[in-house]
Amino acid sequence: MEEKKEISQKKGTRISRDEILFLLSEEPLDSLIERAYAVKVAEIGKRVSLRALIEWSSVCSKNCYYCGIRRGNSALARYRMSEDEIVSLALKAHKDGYGNLVLQSGEIESDENTSFVERVLKRIAASLGDDFGVTLSLGEQTDEVFERWREAGAHRYLLRIETSNRELYSKIHPQECSWERRRNCLRSLRKCGYQVGTGVMCALPGQTIEDLADDIIFFAEEDIDMIGMGPYIPHPATPLGQGEVLDEAAKRERFDLALRMIAVARIALGDVNIASTTALQALDPQGREKGILAGANVIMPNVTDSKYNESYNLYADKPRSDSACGEDVGKLSHLVESIGEKLLVGERGDSPHYKARGGDLV
Ligand code: SAH
Ligand code: SF4
Repeated sequence: MEEKKEISQKKGTRISRDEILFLLSEEPLDSLIERAYAVKVAEIGKRVSLRALIEWSSVCSKNCYYCGIRRGNSALARYRMSEDEIVSLALKAHKDGYGNLVLQSGEIESDENTSFVERVLKRIAASLGDDFGVTLSLGEQTDEVFERWREAGAHRYLLRIETSNRELYSKIHPQECSWERRRNCLRSLRKCGYQVGTGVMCALPGQTIEDLADDIIFFAEEDIDMIGMGPYIPHPATPLGQGEVLDEAAKRERFDLALRMIAVARIALGDVNIASTTALQALDPQGREKGILAGANVIMPNVTDSKYNESYNLYADKPRSDSACGEDVGKLSHLVESIGEKLLVGERGDSPHYKARGGDLV
């Protein structure tokens, strides 16, 4: 514990591991949220970044025990959008007021997939230029692939470590998945010049409050720019989620824990981008707004055609796409204004932490 505390203070958490633990487990939720929101306003302002999320393929070569689109779920109809479909959706999102997008999919490591994504990125960059931000969330890849995609126009990459506890990681993944490789990918992404995002699931079976405190210290040690965390939600067609249905009390508990993690991450890390995730919304219809008021500053409405939603069910009761995205930007602006914040329509929404560490924004 002493050693951890020293590391966390050297590498940049603003509060000690003991304080992180206290805030996660004992501080009353209301006062925790109030303190985190004050840090958010001081570091980021009353501003919320907007990203368009495109779930462009549900084909995945991996078999993570918790995920509904794992390779072993043979009941799922798989899809992959065409190059033209993705590019026109990106152009539509831009027209509708989005200043950036996130391309997310299952994990495929192949030359064909690398070139496919590269072509999509080049076409988006050719049409929309560098003022339009592109984030990738396509799983683990080699350094060469990360470099090619960065060259082709991607600015940010999201790769959740899922848990900083290696032992817990090995319990929720098959043997062929390596925690070290995932962590090394985060380091490669940083070397390639990406704004690097990671995150964890909260309330995993066997996860402790100490694990969650260490997750926040992990974010600081790896000097992460963007964080996406959400509650773990069981999926019935997975080995981990089989037979588990959350009752209302369990949903509330999980939701509160995820809010606590957002709040403590904001207090401990300061100027990073923190997403108010879809999984929060799955547990509470006002989850997104509550996430912002607990210290998050990014929302990512799903603009994928709703015909694909059934085939991209990572977890049970995942919210459907926000249908016509043009209409939604206006609606979302009002929603965000209703909690006293401003939605950054048409902006790239870069991480202030990346700028502060001297990252190159092109
Ligand atoms: N294949 C890529 C990106 C898609 S999965 C990757 O794995 O990085 C995106 C995220 O969905 C995962 O990182 C995981 O944290 C989350 N996820 C998957 N199953 C989930 C579940 N049952 N509950 C909550 N989040 C889940
Ligand atoms: Fe595939 Fe990502 Fe789901 Fe794992 S979490 S099975 S890599 S989509």
